[in-house]
Amino acid sequence: MNHIICFSGGHSSGLVAIEVVRRFGKENVILLNHNLNPITELPDIKRFKSQLSEYLGIEITYANIDNIQNDYELPDQFDVSIKSKSFINANRNMLCTSRLKTKPFEDWIDNNTYENHNLFFDRYLKSETVIYYGFDATEDERVMRRYEKIKSMGLKSDYPLKFWKNRTIFSTSELGIKPPIVYDFFKHANCIGCLKAGLQHWYVVFCLYPKIFEKAKSTEKIIGFSIKMVSTKGIKKPIFLEQLEPIFKKMRSDHIPATEHYPHFKKVFAKYKIVENYEPIPCDCGSY
Ligand code: SF4
Repeated sequence: MNHIICFSGGHSSGLVAIEVVRRFGKENVILLNHNLNPITELPDIKRFKSQLSEYLGIEITYANIDNIQNDYELPDQFDVSIKSKSFINANRNMLCTSRLKTKPFEDWIDNNTYENHNLFFDRYLKSETVIYYGFDATEDERVMRRYEKIKSMGLKSDYPLKFWKNRTIFSTSELGIKPPIVYDFFKHANCIGCLKAGLQHWYVVFCLYPKIFEKAKSTEKIIGFSIKMVSTKGIKKPIFLEQLEPIFKKMRSDHIPATEHYPHFKKVFAKYKIVENYEPIPCDCGSY
């Protein structure tokens, strides 16, 4: 079998890579990653990916947007949105997800797998290929969605953190590899300034990554629509980052902690009569 790990750079995908290699050996394992612009994918995630790759003795295979290999030439979530003048695509999914991750993943699968080896010797036979994801025991819906999607592509999928008994590792710290520091402030290793994220994420970005906040603000101006929608007095409407800025400034001067782990954020925010029913979610991307 060929084992393709959807290696996002998040901690869970790292654990999956280790479990798969420990079970099957490293010979037929591929660490498939979408490299992202280093401004919004922090260098520490790149450090984590490369330490894991070194530990496993497997080079990372990159499936990047437009096959761009130079990190600094990679567009970020704002660049791709500006280019298409929208934050969402025709199917009303996040455009950044489909441009930066889903499409490169599907293109890579198209170019590297096939139904019949007699035609393409250098490709992986679909019936002998399994795609692995780092979804955990609580993520039934994501597992079901991904299972159906991968099946429709003629491939198998597996979810070791959810289904495998006798797990051998629960943190990469056990190997001396520190999980990405992004988890110190955020619940998921998404892009900084994630277009799918909630207000708490944007508050953290405002406090800790002001350049990214500014780029997001100017992207909203160029596109003419807001990244966030919120409910005010029960009515859902767009809210621009420029409108949130004075609120965030006040919260910062009130010493509200700049972390997604702060549990009272919703209560603090409700003071400003803005309600958001949102829990941080990992990027639901093509290979994540
Ligand atoms: S992590 Fe967020 S910003 Fe990045 S591609 Fe996914 S949805 Fe877009």
